[in-house]
Amino acid sequence: MTRALRVVILGRQGSGKGTQCARISSTWGMVHVSTGDMLRAAVSEGTDLGLQAKEVMDRGGLVSDDIMNGIVAERLAKRDVVDCGVLLDGFPRTPAQAAALEEILAETPLDLALSLDVPVEEVVTRMLDRGREDDTEEAIRRRLDLYESETAPLLSWFEERDLLRVVDGLGDEDEVFDRIQGVLEEVTEPA
Ligand code: AMP
Repeated sequence: MTRALRVVILGRQGSGKGTQCARISSTWGMVHVSTGDMLRAAVSEGTDLGLQAKEVMDRGGLVSDDIMNGIVAERLAKRDVVDCGVLLDGFPRTPAQAAALEEILAETPLDLALSLDVPVEEVVTRMLDRGREDDTEEAIRRRLDLYESETAPLLSWFEERDLLRVVDGLGDEDEVFDRIQGVLEEVTEPA
């Protein structure tokens, strides 16, 4: 049996992360935990969290680190993640979240941070095409700016810990998935 992998996936919004995450988790067995999906579910259920998050999400901002760290700590403590590992998508998004994640996973550290690399011009086109409700041009631009300012520095954070692998996200879905599989196979190879 393969061991439970703990992987963070990074990439600009619109980089194809969602599609690849579904394929990775079904092939490799980790639980796909997407903080964006969790927040959207909370919004549609009208929970307290959803009410707080909706306004921030609509303007393309970031929900506070305290709230996000709490949600993720709670989710990663659940049995399915402990047993099967996790593919964490959308978190961490800030250095404070990365530090929190390191604490949350203190006993069972991350195996890998996978960055799906797609150039800005390409993701803008893709996002406008998918036409999601929170994908107005202004919100897209705001989210990409935030990505550059807050999330891109995380790449160095993971690199310093020798966890970062960058995968070229251009090309068709199968090609990109093959590249990702190659990296996961390397990480899981017996030493
Ligand atoms: P996503 O589906 O990952 O693009 O997330 C959609 C929206 O949810 C983002 O634009 C943020 O407003 C919010 N969000 C998701 N994950 C986080 C996070 N880790 N920290 C702060 N806000 C988040």
